[in-house]
Amino acid sequence: MVTPNWVRRPNTSPSMVHVSATAATGGVAELLAGLVPAQIAAGVPAGWAVIEAGEDFHDFTRYLDRLLHGRADSLTSERLGEGAKPYRELLATHAAWLAEQLGSEDVVVLHDPATLGMAPPLAEAGLRVVWHCHLGTTEEEASGPAAVWHHFHDELASLDAVVTTLPEYAPQSVPAARRHVFAPAVDPSAPKNRPLSSREIETVLAEAGLALPAQARTVAQVSRWDALKDMPGALRCLPKLPADVHLVLVGDHPDSSESRAVLDEVRSLRARLSEQDRSRVHLVLTSQEDPQARALLVNAVQRRADVVLHKSLAEGFGLPVTEAMLKGKAVVAGDVGGPRQQISPGHNGVLADPRNTTAVVEALEMLLEDPMLRRRLGNNATESVSRRYLMDRLVADYHAFGISGQL
Ligand code: UDP
Repeated sequence: MVTPNWVRRPNTSPSMVHVSATAATGGVAELLAGLVPAQIAAGVPAGWAVIEAGEDFHDFTRYLDRLLHGRADSLTSERLGEGAKPYRELLATHAAWLAEQLGSEDVVVLHDPATLGMAPPLAEAGLRVVWHCHLGTTEEEASGPAAVWHHFHDELASLDAVVTTLPEYAPQSVPAARRHVFAPAVDPSAPKNRPLSSREIETVLAEAGLALPAQARTVAQVSRWDALKDMPGALRCLPKLPADVHLVLVGDHPDSSESRAVLDEVRSLRARLSEQDRSRVHLVLTSQEDPQARALLVNAVQRRADVVLHKSLAEGFGLPVTEAMLKGKAVVAGDVGGPRQQISPGHNGVLADPRNTTAVVEALEMLLEDPMLRRRLGNNATESVSRRYLMDRLVADYHAFGISGQL
């Protein structure tokens, strides 16, 4: 039987066990890497298990993610029907394994659609189950979420509570008293965010082979090679920016056919640029094998950037936006759900229609040309992240599910 892997096994019971689909890729893994140790430090016996699944499973769950971000189409019902069977079968074996290891006082927190299928068998085994969904859309006419809610009706009905990033992301079939809203959070002392001296930044970038001219102004985007993050769109902005501006795109080595396709598209767009423009585009592939080095590299790139771009076409929250804001950076982000929640335009960053290249380029230019404005937005950004999005707050939010208390 394929079972989940413990990233961190709780050492006492009752405990709160988080379950995610990946240990290192994406925002949930990033969040749990900070949250679980912070909960333990605060006296909550927290644990973290990661499901073990193949590419077909992950392709299906990425499809669920996309539905939660947008529209269903004529094939949605069929794809949900086909994909849900193996998805539920695999998660049932994982749930059985977890239920054997845990007791009825324990709380299991399932993260994102990839793990939602574990809810009914865990609930049947007598465990309390919370689903923390980090994705969603604020578009009222989006039909994707409704299709997921319809298809996963039994899973939703078996939950003790649902947590979402914004109230609009929650399935309305779950009674209001069981819906909670927790924004994500970042850890300022983590390698991803801790202060770095200029010398450290230079060293880290040089070790990664990232050679930026000393005087070059820099725009950077850090994200997965996912179509919705729109790295190709970020690249399309570059030829329209002043000739001294360099663009740094950072993402992990691709691990799926989709991420390989997006990276290939970026590479072929880059190959078609003039030689001079090509020399201003830097693709940095990070490796999950050394999480410390990867985090430091992201940190150094964000700190070296004059402006941080997050051009996502749809975004549940967008941790790279929070990370850049914490570092006092002026951010230009797609005017969609998550960034809209974090940025008050003109106060602590800038929002632009991510489907409008001209609007994004204008926003970048406005900030690149105005160091005073960048400083003001950056200072306000640090202040707002420090007030709203630090890990202590998320640990406190999770006290709503006091492991021996009421859900
Ligand atoms: N990230 C990283 N290296 C990369 C790309 C992304 O460490 O090459 C991190 C990034 O700093 C952020 C997280 O992965 O902490 C992605 O967060 P996001 O909210 O964009 O989540 P996703 O939609 O990717 O799950």
